[in-house]
Amino acid sequence: MSARIGIAGIAGRMGRLLAEEVTAAGATLAGGTLRPGTAKAPPAEVPLLPDAEALFAASEVVIDFTHASVAATHAALAARTGKPLVLGTSGLSAAEEEAVADAARQAPICYAANFAPGVNLFLAIAERMAAALPAEQYDAEIVEMHHRQKVDAPSGTAIALGRAVARGRGTTLEEAGTESGRDGQTGARRTGTIGFAALRGGQVVGEHTLIFAGASEHIALTHRSFDRRVYATGAVRAALWLIGKPPGLYGMRDVLGMK
Ligand code: NAD
Repeated sequence: MSARIGIAGIAGRMGRLLAEEVTAAGATLAGGTLRPGTAKAPPAEVPLLPDAEALFAASEVVIDFTHASVAATHAALAARTGKPLVLGTSGLSAAEEEAVADAARQAPICYAANFAPGVNLFLAIAERMAAALPAEQYDAEIVEMHHRQKVDAPSGTAIALGRAVARGRGTTLEEAGTESGRDGQTGARRTGTIGFAALRGGQVVGEHTLIFAGASEHIALTHRSFDRRVYATGAVRAALWLIGKPPGLYGMRDVLGMK
């Protein structure tokens, strides 16, 4: 029998694409939920479930691309039922991320800022570049652009890039410090910090550029997503991979078999 995959927020932009990709992968769409009180209609022929509890009961694995405020609830349901969860929602607070990590002690959870394979390769390269280009000599700056509807900044992927740079330099993003949204009399750039700039407009699916700026040279790496479907395909791949895995917090690098 094909895997039964449930989708939280089935009427969302990602929710709809996920529903199509579940079917395209030959899996069974177990059902979907809507935000309580929403006026949005689910895609036709999707079994609509009353709440997240019913979603977990009906599914072998759940995919959640909704809103940060429900990530901890969904992770707790995964822990309680032992069912795998693919979490793609961005904008989680440190406390919400901690709740997800806690839940992953009892259920397999794949949490990724970006489910596109190319972006995950980008993250791996960013870490290696940062290890080779010392913070005292190369300023790391991350520029991202997204569609005008995006509600959080910097993007989850930009933060993941920042973390990869910090890891490559043997520190954490919190320890390295960040500079974002510079405006007015900011003072000179602080050595070792990681800079973020967020642009919003139109229907840009997702663009990220990582720049290492030294005194005599400058190197930039850019990734562009042209179609949001790449995230849905990756998330369904992660969902199928997660079935039968022991509890733990996994990332897309695990799904792709990257060291
Ligand atoms: P969207 O606003 O179109 O869809 C979100 C949907 O979730 C909405 O339909 C909303 O009604 C629903 N929702 C909110 N709370 C809910 C609840 N409690 N129960 C059920 N449904 C609920 O947004 P989107 O563009 O589809 O993005 C959703 C999230 O996924 C965002 O956080 C976005 O940043 C993230 N995202 C992540 C990746 C990735 O690869 N990790 C890629 C794209 C988007």
